Amino acid sequence: MPNDPEKSLLQHAAALGASDARMIASAGIRVEEELARICRDPGCPGYGQGANCPPHVMPPAAFRELLRTYPQALVFKFDVPTEVLLGDDRFEVARIVHETAAGLERQALACGYAAARGFAASSCKRIFCPQEKDCRVLSGKGNCRHPEAARPSISGLGVNFFELSRTVGWPIQRITSESDPEAIPMGLMAGIVLLA
Ligand code: SF4
Repeated sequence: MPNDPEKSLLQHAAALGASDARMIASAGIRVEEELARICRDPGCPGYGQGANCPPHVMPPAAFRELLRTYPQALVFKFDVPTEVLLGDDRFEVARIVHETAAGLERQALACGYAAARGFAASSCKRIFCPQEKDCRVLSGKGNCRHPEAARPSISGLGVNFFELSRTVGWPIQRITSESDPEAIPMGLMAGIVLLA
């Protein structure tokens, strides 16, 4: 086990390619029902499609309760050109974000955080199982096909990542299909690892 587990985790995040990573108090993560509702209305194509997205992932109230049992969290981000975020290549970036959350979770476990849990942006069905008819977990036919990487969606849990980004000093602007990549050239995708 490393002498300084926090430093080790931050170094590991950098080694995995994250643009930045910070340690924060979990109490600073705000969770809002209305943000989780956006997955259903106006809706995301991933809604209801995988075990890591609403309505199958834990509801915001349950995530808020979970946060109370974790004093600390590591948050990380990947800076991504807006053009990429607006195209299908965003799923390749999202795959890396999920792999990073899972990799940091494994590193945290190795560092002695026995209850470490990773969460990541975007829908696992759209990233890992786009060609599959069903999520294997939801179909009842078995376990997740990608347990080494797929993690619950942070937006599906209701995490207010805009506020969190501002708290840690990461510039962030809302990017929609209407956004102009010349006006907003860069965005980000992020993940969280709860530490206890
Ligand atoms: S089987 Fe596929 S869709 Fe279902 S939880 Fe795993 S990665 Fe997500």
